[in-house]
Amino acid sequence: MTSKVFFAKIDPQNKDDEIFNKLNELMDKSGFVNNLDENDIVAIKTHFGERGNTTYLNPSFARTIVDLVKTKNAKPFLTDTNTLYHHYRTNSVDHLETAYQHGYSFSILNAPVIIADGMHGNNEVEVEINQELFEKAKIARDIYESDGLIVLSHFKGHCMCGFGGAIKNLAMGCASRNGKKNQHKLVAPVISKIRCLACRVCEKMCPEEAITVDSHAVIDYDKCIGCNDCIEICPTHTIKLNRLNSDDFSKALAEYAYASIINKKFNKVVFINFLTNITPDCDCNAFEQEKMIEDIGILLSYDPVAIDKASYDLVNNHKSGLSSLFDAEYVTGEDKFKVLYRNIDSTVQLKEAEKLRLGTTDYELIEIM
Ligand code: SF4
Ligand code: SF4
Repeated sequence: MTSKVFFAKIDPQNKDDEIFNKLNELMDKSGFVNNLDENDIVAIKTHFGERGNTTYLNPSFARTIVDLVKTKNAKPFLTDTNTLYHHYRTNSVDHLETAYQHGYSFSILNAPVIIADGMHGNNEVEVEINQELFEKAKIARDIYESDGLIVLSHFKGHCMCGFGGAIKNLAMGCASRNGKKNQHKLVAPVISKIRCLACRVCEKMCPEEAITVDSHAVIDYDKCIGCNDCIEICPTHTIKLNRLNSDDFSKALAEYAYASIINKKFNKVVFINFLTNITPDCDCNAFEQEKMIEDIGILLSYDPVAIDKASYDLVNNHKSGLSSLFDAEYVTGEDKFKVLYRNIDSTVQLKEAEKLRLGTTDYELIEIM
């Protein structure tokens, strides 16, 4: 069966005003607010952006959604979960401060911000899924126990799965820290002993004491949680992401995405992908990134697979613009994420999610004017 994906193109020159109008139109077209009941608690899941990142979603977009949800006398809150890596979103105190610094405050949102997996990321529900990689998934309790869910995703590239959109936001974004560990362990980093200086910097900083250094550094994979903190710190760049397991990582994403909405009514979960400020990697990066292409628009669907497939197609079919990320040989229509991450097949997450009947890649794009 085909899934509907509503699409509002935006003019990159006039985008902020347009986005507010188009968001309202998309929500109206979807009829989502009418599916809510009075007093429903509605999680609006987004990514507040790591400190130093500049392309996270504008909090005023979330305010538009909050106002619409409140017309139904439902109770919206903005939410995200703590990160596995150690920076400014690792615990709820730092995470909330980062969110406020990025404008996700009550005065702008007119709704509270709640970090869904609690102070240290262990406020979780074990969800039985009995799938190939995981029998149980660990999902942030406050998202899992909400009545409705609106997933606002900044669609962009991702260094471990090619691109990140609705599926990634559900999977990693709704997992508790333990849930993130389970997924990230599959892509724990690798160390090449040839370039290792045995300087012990990684050994000293590893939060799990998973690295020992004798003549060169060695990772104990029984202890390593895959936080990838050691990658940035190595002076010789000899610790690398393990992209060989990216297919397993994508499969893990599909299983976790499935777990995060398994208890929800179909018509109380909706996905909105923003194809604006499209960068090569995710908003966890604590620095400004070059944009891949000019802004395209906003998509809305009840189907996370269809919306991600439609987003992926729109990005690939869009001209590459002047971005230095694509050379003169680049042909419009080629998989841009494959150009960025040549060892990663970003369609695996779509195929795996489709196998779990989370949605379909067969979509009808309905453009609203
Ligand atoms: S930080 Fe890099 S160079 Fe230093 S011990 Fe670890 S792997 Fe080797
Ligand atoms: S070895 Fe690296 S990825 Fe593994 S836990 Fe230590 S810092 Fe994190």
